[in-house]
Amino acid sequence: MNFEAHLAPYAARSAASRGRRFSEAAPASRSEFQRDRDRIIHSTAFRRLEYKTQVFVNHEGDLFRTRLTHSIEVAQIARSIARNLRLNEDLVEAISLAHDLGHTPFGHAGQDALNACMKDYGGFEHNLQSLRVVDELEEHYGAFDGLNLMFETREGILKHCSLSNAAKLGDIGRRFIERKQPSLEAQLANLADEIAYNNHDIDDGLRSGLITTTQLDEVDFYARHRSEVARAYPGITGRRAIHETIRRMINALAVDLIQTSQSHIRDAGVQSIDEVRNAEPLITFSREMRGEALQLKRFLRENLYHHYLVNRMTSKARRIIRELFDAFMQEPRLLPPDYQIPGNEHAQARKVADYIAGMTDRYAMREHRRLFFIDES
Ligand code: MG
Repeated sequence: MNFEAHLAPYAARSAASRGRRFSEAAPASRSEFQRDRDRIIHSTAFRRLEYKTQVFVNHEGDLFRTRLTHSIEVAQIARSIARNLRLNEDLVEAISLAHDLGHTPFGHAGQDALNACMKDYGGFEHNLQSLRVVDELEEHYGAFDGLNLMFETREGILKHCSLSNAAKLGDIGRRFIERKQPSLEAQLANLADEIAYNNHDIDDGLRSGLITTTQLDEVDFYARHRSEVARAYPGITGRRAIHETIRRMINALAVDLIQTSQSHIRDAGVQSIDEVRNAEPLITFSREMRGEALQLKRFLRENLYHHYLVNRMTSKARRIIRELFDAFMQEPRLLPPDYQIPGNEHAQARKVADYIAGMTDRYAMREHRRLFFIDES
């Protein structure tokens, strides 16, 4: 059965794929990319996303986004746009669900701290770590390490990569060196991520009380939609007004992305995924929308991500990661046996990074207490 007959010629297809690292028989009841999506959902790293966060640490409140709900929102936005563009929804969903698998505990603070710890050992990049999770770290199959995903899924997961790391990665790193594009599905998942976090960070920011609707009125994009909501529903206030506003913002971004990308695809005349790889990026917002999104991002950076109460948490997070790393490097025997690599400092550091990156927020805090407080065991 051809599960992909409805796709546009420029979409990713199982038949035209660059394949898996270890060859496997084609699945009978689903497409190759459906299989990838399913493998990701059954992975251990995917379940950990529930207890990892970006801005707010997991214990700060039950209603804040976690990386799991964030990834589901990204997948929802990406799939609905993909359907409009006749792209491969299964691939876009697989990339979306896997895009944060390599994140450390405590969001970007954790990633920066671990990168600093790994300075002399090749550094730490969360995109690269996501690829490492699906290529090597998951232990689910008898025949291979990792999930053995399709090239196009892996290409989408590796959103960014330094040139020095790209050179070590072979096939999957080549596009960074040759300055080529990934599939349209990968380009789309990347922007769906942006739509998701910009909007849910407003919601979570307001819920936490760290930012206010009055402050948000200085963001044109928000203010315009908020006043439309007030006109449509006179007297609307509170959570309902916020949600109705954010809903409209997400919709406006999605519609703009669909229309702009459709016209780019038409103008470029691409007829295959390889033509897509050689073209300019085709999935983009319009220039006006990019300007609006930038203003919103800047607002969030200044008022939420750098709020002093968030800074306190990120400072604590940095310290926890640094102290865990140093303790494990000084005494590798504190690690579970399969993470100990005696006599090879470089390999040991990478194992410690894998161990720490795999921790959830609360596990990292508990592990830190266990190592540094005598009355914890
Ligand atoms: Mg993300």
